[in-house]
Amino acid sequence: MEFLLDSRNILYLIAAILFIRGIQGLTHPRTAVRGNLLGLAGMLMAMAVTLLDWDMMMPGWYWWVGGIVVGTVVGYLAAKLVKMTMMPELVALFNGSGGLASMLVAGAFFHKLSGDAADPAIIAQAVEQGISTMDMAVIKDGGTPLQTYIATALSGIIGAVTFTGSLFAFLKLRELISGRPKTNPLLKLGNGGFLLLACIFGVVLVVWPEQTWAYWALAICALACGVFFVMPIGGADMPVVISLLNSYSGLAACATGFVINNTVLIVAGSLVGASGLILTKIMCVAMNRSLFNVLFGVMAVVEEGPSADEVYAGKIKTTSPEEVAMILEGAQRVCIVPGYGMAVSQAQHVVRDLGNFLESRGTKVTYGIHPVAGRMPGHMNVLLAEADVPYDMLHEMDEVNRYIEQVDVCIVLGANDVVNPDGRTNPKSPIAGMPIIDVDKANTVVVIKRSLSPGFAGIPNPLFAMDNTLMMFGDGKKAMLELLESLKEAE
Ligand code: NDP
Repeated sequence: MEFLLDSRNILYLIAAILFIRGIQGLTHPRTAVRGNLLGLAGMLMAMAVTLLDWDMMMPGWYWWVGGIVVGTVVGYLAAKLVKMTMMPELVALFNGSGGLASMLVAGAFFHKLSGDAADPAIIAQAVEQGISTMDMAVIKDGGTPLQTYIATALSGIIGAVTFTGSLFAFLKLRELISGRPKTNPLLKLGNGGFLLLACIFGVVLVVWPEQTWAYWALAICALACGVFFVMPIGGADMPVVISLLNSYSGLAACATGFVINNTVLIVAGSLVGASGLILTKIMCVAMNRSLFNVLFGVMAVVEEGPSADEVYAGKIKTTSPEEVAMILEGAQRVCIVPGYGMAVSQAQHVVRDLGNFLESRGTKVTYGIHPVAGRMPGHMNVLLAEADVPYDMLHEMDEVNRYIEQVDVCIVLGANDVVNPDGRTNPKSPIAGMPIIDVDKANTVVVIKRSLSPGFAGIPNPLFAMDNTLMMFGDGKKAMLELLESLKEAE
């Protein structure tokens, strides 16, 4: 045991390497499962080494074991029961829990430090020994270095903002409260005001650490700040905020690592903080939004665009599975572009069957994946990987756009915004500048969805009214099943 405790930092280093290798594995579907397992092994190792440190076992080991058991059961059930379409909500709750945990751990440890420091017996003994005023100051604050108090304040502020911010993001995404963006300037004022107050209490805590109330005052202000931070944000920006809060939860954990002097928490927190920020940047670029505009609820200035009636009236051509089957018979190159509707209808397995069937007849099939198709980055990759679609058939947007003009039939399944040509051609559109998959340049486009309803951005899609577009209305999975049936019957 002694030996293990002595080697604690080496074991933590191994855990950190496992985390890094795990994240590296998650960058590709082929290595994602292994990456997940490596991360799991790292976390098990970090927990085991922390458990060996009996000094930390306050107030008793049963709290630790109880926490681990409850966490494992909740994590297992969440992974098993939560649908893929609810992933952003789940991530929001996980982020919030991380923030709350960091805030509470840092607070508890701060109280313990203050308790140690204020021990009258130690102070009396020091006075008896006639020590200098400077040494007395060190003894009074328990010899705790200044950076520990700074880290405590940071952990409290970031953890609390993450907690309430994530909770409100969850409520918005679940539509338990209105998910629309709000432009009321009072919200921004509240956000700034509470953040300023939290920082002032943070300074009080750092300068006069014996004022333990300052920590909880800081936490209450930061909790309020989290609410005001998320309230103005809404619509398509919500998943970006979730990713940012994910980064915050990592930063809070990192600060807590400094408070309790735990190396692996510092490393894991930094990894989450940095990867969350990178993901936030990727999402902003894919949606053509700046982080500033997302955070401060600045919406693109949009002129009133044409109504759905104006865009679609008299121009929509509907089709049937039988007709599409006939068109596919003559196609040499087919590209399937999935979107949120594939996730909702859980059509990924039928999509794979259809793709395999066409391939078996000599048609070249690829899948065009937009970085923000669905409701989280990589949503489509995960679903198609789950259905065992070979990875080399999944092509990213830029690659697809290079050959889309040679594609005979492009099947757009439950995708809308990510194939809206307005992103490329209409500077007045709310999605102007958003990179899209140029499916309108394919020879024939078959769009499968239930109606002409808009997508996430809430705007009409001129693609549906184009000359080379056919609309096949219906639930994604049912429509694909019927299409596959028709193809087989025509054999
Ligand atoms: P959209 O939200 O634009 O459109 C999805 C379409 O799916 C709808 O028009 C809907 O039409 C259709 N649909 C819904 N249910 C079904 C069903 N059962 N069967 C068939 N079709 C169905 O999705 P996209 O994937 O094209 O675009 C994603 C949007 O989400 C973008 O605006 C993106 O900016 C945004 N977003 C994505 C993030 C990400 O990380 N992926 C993050 C933040 C935002 P109908 O009701 O007529 O069937």
